[in-house]
Amino acid sequence: MKYHSSSKSTRRKFLYNLGLTTLSLPALSSLYACSGKPSGKKEQSVNDGKKDKLGIALVGLGSYAGGQLAPALQQTEHCYLAGIVTGTPSKIPEWQEKYSIPDKNIYSYENFDSIRDNKDIDIVYVVLPNSMHAEYTIRAAQAGKHVICEKPMAITVEDCNRMIDACNKAGKMLSIGYRLHFEPYNLEMVRLAQEKEFGALKKMSSAFGIHTSPGIWRLNKELAGGGPLMDVGIYCVQAFCYVSGMEPLAVTAKEGPKTDLEKFKEVEESLTWQFEFPNSLVAEGMCSYSESICNLRAEAEQGWFQLEPAYYYGGLKGETSKGKINFPQVNQQARQMDDFALAIKNNRPSPVPGEMGRRDVKLLQAIYEAMQTGKRITL
Ligand code: NAD
Repeated sequence: MKYHSSSKSTRRKFLYNLGLTTLSLPALSSLYACSGKPSGKKEQSVNDGKKDKLGIALVGLGSYAGGQLAPALQQTEHCYLAGIVTGTPSKIPEWQEKYSIPDKNIYSYENFDSIRDNKDIDIVYVVLPNSMHAEYTIRAAQAGKHVICEKPMAITVEDCNRMIDACNKAGKMLSIGYRLHFEPYNLEMVRLAQEKEFGALKKMSSAFGIHTSPGIWRLNKELAGGGPLMDVGIYCVQAFCYVSGMEPLAVTAKEGPKTDLEKFKEVEESLTWQFEFPNSLVAEGMCSYSESICNLRAEAEQGWFQLEPAYYYGGLKGETSKGKINFPQVNQQARQMDDFALAIKNNRPSPVPGEMGRRDVKLLQAIYEAMQTGKRITL
């Protein structure tokens, strides 16, 4: 599944070489965490040569791992692609050739636990269907590895609890693949809101929809945990929280009509919801598996600011009631993974920890409960 990648890789590389990396901009969470004031503080780089880079093993070699993460790991400064874990042996030769991965760093799902003996691997990155995140995160932690887990963190809050507990018990760090916390346009939305550039926020809205083909795991409730809400609606939920710097107090939701009963027999095709935040702030979300849409808008007392597209891998565009927003396009995944490597090296928390993933799974479950019961659910 691709969320419209920008093809401007040469430009990206150029910008990267200019030093627009993880270290150049603060992570989004650090903008609103605690004080609510942007910190902008630069972090001390602790490694220069490749020998000091942390080794990442990708688990699940699907479209996100192959199309985004592995290429991003060719641009990272603090971590590199050291290994792979796959259930499909036919994928191995191409990956080995492309990324020079030695035989000893290749694992199957069966022998995955023996990764504990491999000193090349510091971090396991779980990029499997949603319901498998819990098992592989827990196994990775028990094997003594730090973990990055893709969104949504899991399909139940209980699984999130088990994942957090396993990492805590192992003394390992857990972060979620929330790449937009390292993306300049989304960072600017946070800054505009937090610094009240247009006064207090009154209303937010966001929609994320993509087209899906029939028969994929994303339409299978057991593997996906739900439909577009779990996959793309989560971006809107995230954005409402990071832009406002708050968590919602209540939610109402409504499932959209199904245009294909066979294709969407297990999960919703589309869904709209409304969050009530403190200070009478409301946020209207929409997600869909049969419409291409991707935006985020905030309305404040004296103006508005918005992104469209808001959440793609590249090509983001922004505007405010005063004019256009212009930032360089960066490799979001490279910045996200470098930040986690630095968090480990510098022994500081990740700005996108398991606890944030669990909060979001709680919010997604509340939206489903509101949708199913037709009631206003308080949080
Ligand atoms: P994909 O279908 O392209 O890849 C899934 C991988 O899991 C494949 O390699 C497949 O072989 C493997 N797999 C193992 N067991 C499987 C099973 N029982 N059924 C199906 N596949 C199985 O999916 P993807 O788009 O790469 O998504 C993987 C994860 O990454 C998901 O959790 C998704 O939400 C997340 N993701 C995140 C982003 C992002 O921008 N952060 C983007 C895309 C996907």
